[in-house]
Amino acid sequence: SYENLTGRTAVVTGAASGIGEAVAVLLAERGARVALLARREQRLEEVAAKITAGGGSALAVVADVTDDASVAAAVARIHEAYGPVDLVVNNAGVMLGNPVEAGRLDEWQRMIDTNVTGVLRVIRAFTGDLVAAAGEGRTADLVDISSVGAHLAFPNYAVYGATKAAVTHLSQCLRTEFGPRDVRVTNVEPGFVESELRLHTDNAEVSGQVDGMLEAVGTLAAEELADVVAYAVSRPWHVNLRQIMAMPTRQA
Ligand code: NDP
Repeated sequence: SYENLTGRTAVVTGAASGIGEAVAVLLAERGARVALLARREQRLEEVAAKITAGGGSALAVVADVTDDASVAAAVARIHEAYGPVDLVVNNAGVMLGNPVEAGRLDEWQRMIDTNVTGVLRVIRAFTGDLVAAAGEGRTADLVDISSVGAHLAFPNYAVYGATKAAVTHLSQCLRTEFGPRDVRVTNVEPGFVESELRLHTDNAEVSGQVDGMLEAVGTLAAEELADVVAYAVSRPWHVNLRQIMAMPTRQA
C-alpha cells in the first residue's frame, strides 16, 4: 500500500518524459508537491499542466544537470516556491550506443556528464535539504535511477553501462554517509522500459539491435516503474528498499 505523500516536497530530474514524467505524476497524485526539472520547457509545462489539472502541485523548472549555474538557479527557484525539499529523484539520463572502437569521446563525455556528474551535482544541490529534513524527524529520500546495465552487459553500450554501474555504487557508498543521518538512499535499476531513451542513438544498426531485444521480451510502462519508486518512498522512514531491479518478466 502507499502512504499518503501529502506534505512532502519532491524534485524529479528528467521529468519531461518517460520514467521521470511518470514518477512526477504519481508522486503528485499521492499528494507531494513536485518540482520538475529537464531542458525542454514545452514538455515540462505539459507535464506540470497535467499534474495541476489533476489537482496536484507542480513547478516546471528548466534546468540542465550538466550545468552548475543552471542547477543553482533551479535550486533557488524551487526554494523560493516550495522551500526545502525532502525527496529527490535523480532520473535524468542519456543512453548513447556505439562500439567502443568508434571512439565516440563526444558521446562518452555526454553520458558521463549527465548520468554521473549530473547526478552528483543534483545530490550536492539538495544534500543540505535532505539532512535537515531528516534531522527534523521527517522522512528524507534520495532515489537514484540506475539500470540493469550496471550489472548486465549489452553490446555497444559499454560506456552507458559503466555510468550506471557508477550510479549504483555511488548509492551504495552514499548510504555510509547518509544512512546514519536517516536519509534513505534507494537505487532503482530498471530493465527495458518504454520511453524515448533509445531514440537518441545515432547509429541505426545499434538502435535496431535494441529494438529487436525489446520486441523479444517486451517493456515495462514508465508508470510501472513509477509505481516502484512511489512504493519505496512510501515505506516507514527506517525501512530501506535499497536496491530494486525492476524488469519485464521475460527479460533474462
Ligand atoms: P527519456 O529519454 O524519456 O527520459 C530522460 C529524461 O532526462 C528526459 O526527460 C530528458 O529531458 C532528461 N534529461 C536528459 N539530459 C538532461 C540534462 N542534461 N539535464 C536535465 N534533464 C536531462 O528516457 P527514460 O525515461 O527511459 O530515462 C530515465 C532514466 O531511466 C535514465 O537515467 C535512464 O538511463 C534510466 N533507465 C531507462 C531504461 C529504459 O529502458 N527506458 C532502463 C534502465 C534505466 P530533456 O531532454 O528535456 O532534458
